[in-house]
Amino acid sequence: MAAFQKHPFLWQILEHVAVERSLLSPILENRAFSDVARAAEIISGQRRIPEIHLRVQACQTVAAVTRRVARPSPAPSPCRRSLPHLAERERAQPEARAWSLPPRAMAVRATISRFPATPEALESCAVQWGVAVTPFAAADERGQPPTTGSGGDLVPRCEHCWGYFSSHCDLERWGWSCALCGTLNGFDDDTARRFQRPDACPELNASFVDLEIPVDEAEGGGDAVQARPVYVAAVDLACSEEFLELIKSSLLAALEALIPGSLFGLITFSHKIGLYDLQGPIPVVKNIFIPPDLEEDGMPVALEDVMPLLSFLAPIDTCKDRIAAALETLRPTSSWERGAASGQEEDTVLLGGRGFGTAMSALIDYLSSEYGSTFALARVFAFLSGAPDYGAGLLDTRRYGEQYASKGVDADLALLPEQIPFYRDLAAVAVQAGVCIDVFAVTDEYTDLASLKFLSIESGGSLFLYANTDDSTLPQDIYRLLSRPYAFGCVLRLRTSSDFEPGNSYGHFFPDPQYENVQHIICCDSFATYAYDFDFAHNDGFSRHTDPAVIQIAFQYSVIEPVEETSGNESQSSASNKFCLKRRLRIRTSQYRPARNISEIYDSVDPEVVLHILVHKVILESLEKGVREGRQQVQAWLALLAARYNQALSSDGRTPMSSIDIDFSQCPQLQMVPQLVFALLRSPLLRLHEEGVHPDYRIYLQCLFSALEPSSLAKAIYPVLISYSSPDKQAFPRHSLSRAALIMSESPIFLLDAFTNLIVYYSSTADPSIPFPPPRDCLLRTRINKLKQDRCITPKLTFIHGGKDDSTLFENYLIEEQDVDGSGFTTGSGFVAFRESVRNVAAEIVQEEMES
Ligand SMILES: [Zn+2]
Repeated sequence: MAAFQKHPFLWQILEHVAVERSLLSPILENRAFSDVARAAEIISGQRRIPEIHLRVQACQTVAAVTRRVARPSPAPSPCRRSLPHLAERERAQPEARAWSLPPRAMAVRATISRFPATPEALESCAVQWGVAVTPFAAADERGQPPTTGSGGDLVPRCEHCWGYFSSHCDLERWGWSCALCGTLNGFDDDTARRFQRPDACPELNASFVDLEIPVDEAEGGGDAVQARPVYVAAVDLACSEEFLELIKSSLLAALEALIPGSLFGLITFSHKIGLYDLQGPIPVVKNIFIPPDLEEDGMPVALEDVMPLLSFLAPIDTCKDRIAAALETLRPTSSWERGAASGQEEDTVLLGGRGFGTAMSALIDYLSSEYGSTFALARVFAFLSGAPDYGAGLLDTRRYGEQYASKGVDADLALLPEQIPFYRDLAAVAVQAGVCIDVFAVTDEYTDLASLKFLSIESGGSLFLYANTDDSTLPQDIYRLLSRPYAFGCVLRLRTSSDFEPGNSYGHFFPDPQYENVQHIICCDSFATYAYDFDFAHNDGFSRHTDPAVIQIAFQYSVIEPVEETSGNESQSSASNKFCLKRRLRIRTSQYRPARNISEIYDSVDPEVVLHILVHKVILESLEKGVREGRQQVQAWLALLAARYNQALSSDGRTPMSSIDIDFSQCPQLQMVPQLVFALLRSPLLRLHEEGVHPDYRIYLQCLFSALEPSSLAKAIYPVLISYSSPDKQAFPRHSLSRAALIMSESPIFLLDAFTNLIVYYSSTADPSIPFPPPRDCLLRTRINKLKQDRCITPKLTFIHGGKDDSTLFENYLIEEQDVDGSGFTTGSGFVAFRESVRNVAAEIVQEEMES
């Protein structure tokens, strides 16, 4: 049992297996069992445990887990206190079944579902006009799946605007009129023939379709092409023991998530690059020293010459044990070794030793030779314990200490731009080589993510930051990352009807060099969200037409799917460890009616999407002009919205202009907006450096927030606070984030969901008979498990007993009593004072405009 207690993740795997299959016996027959047993062996470091002993041990554990899952309210296990994340390990996740089917949805949410009719109406409502698009979403905003089928290449397209035919188009006898531009298109012979069989043409009956496109085998696709999933772990060895332990358990977790047939490579870096041959009987590492001289261009020898790529990439199904054994052998490079290699004197302070830039550049070059033949997309996980300080792409971390010296410059702006374009350029090379890089930084030192972030976000990967190794959710995050489906090589195209057009676009994508409003997405999962805002194409707005406004989103993407093979003599089909590349086209056409008056616009506001676009804008603004400028812009917008709203109210005679209504009391859709804006100003995204926001953390949040879908983002900005009268009974679904609200509610238990954090808080006056922490199978736990599952990252779960534990973590989220500019906790100001200041500015705007 010691191995399982020592290693929380193993416990999680076992629980996953147990819950997944529900029964003990199938586990023993399943090959997953031997993996678990093997992992136990490796993790426990007791290689001489006889297999039979291991089996018994694992069986007992699985049985215990199964019993515990089945038991109504188990007593807390004795190890809970000492191992917090053991106690909080996740339940089996439905999404965690390896190689889930691609999500069949696309979520499109508009800031306003009734569009402004004219440019004047848009100007006078002061609401952002745009859409948030989650093209590969697991579920769309209405729970409506697309109609699926084949023939994505056969959907008729408008000869004028190249829009796709949809059920919103009018069919004529010899042709069809385009729903976007109104052009009458004739049918060609093929289409006329196809449309005679409407059942075989999904686009005839649906406005949302997902269709397969035949892949040209010459282009590296089709059933005959084996595009295998390729994963490479790049591990920093200029690190601490603790860092390496965390990475080892994360990679063991990753191995559990990879499906048979995948290829896996292991590379390490410090002042040298280590290439692992994982296919032989014992793992062999070949080291190549990185030249300390920056003038030298890259490595003296190509990695391919050190070890052929196909020796480096090991098949996961046959080499899992050897990979695990190789991970065992990883050791931090000692500092004297690095010092000696870089030619420094023994007694000088060591500077340098993390040749990340050179290593990544060599790795991308190495992988590129098999792009298009072995793989269609290779994913690299780069684990970093600090800033690159050796070889190409080294980053000078002194600017962190120097920021206050930058007189007259916004200290927060000083650290937001990249130092050198190295990593942005490298990302472009990675994209060309079919390589996508996820960067996992585990450090509390300044690492200059502002420069490093481009390597991940511009190559289609994600950026993760963990401040310490103790309670890092890295193993869970990487397991999730690998377990969920992703699309790659995507092209996203937004078309609108002719009276309006897309303005700005937001998100981690690339504009097409040639075509307007075409975006390339290197790799995206079901959470990745992008946004557009709109402008009118001319001054008449929608007034010339009575037709609704139309938005058409076309999303072309590739997925890798396993090939099911039927064996010759049996009728049973089995996974063959072969994969094929599938290309699909998803088209969604939506109509929106223009609003007749401004009240209709306000009543149709989706505040989460408004916040979504606002956050994108403020991130761009703060990157360009600094955090202070960004804050001012957000505040100014809220005042303008309040002014416009009050002007609209007084113009239709509902309210006299005597007082400014800052609570949007006539419009429920807007009522949350002031709180959202206040919370945005209080969030670490926009809090000033003086309040202790680490610049790397700010960059991490910028990257995370600009990929989140609107509801998740709203939670991250203004967390949801739910009260419970007992672990099995919800009291109130939403409280405002204030101490006063907490006291007023008189509930003993609160659940706070801040997206990255989940906190269960027992008030100090809670009845001592209520079990703490809440029992395993209560309503509250069910809720928590559900929340954890539907998330792109693993939220950190914390239990706080108000009377006994330090409640600071929880209380920091009660923002409404905090001062908006962070000048400290004050008496009775906070949100109330903020509201007053916005009211004053709004009143000034109204006054000025009345006079002019
Ligand atoms: Zn058209």
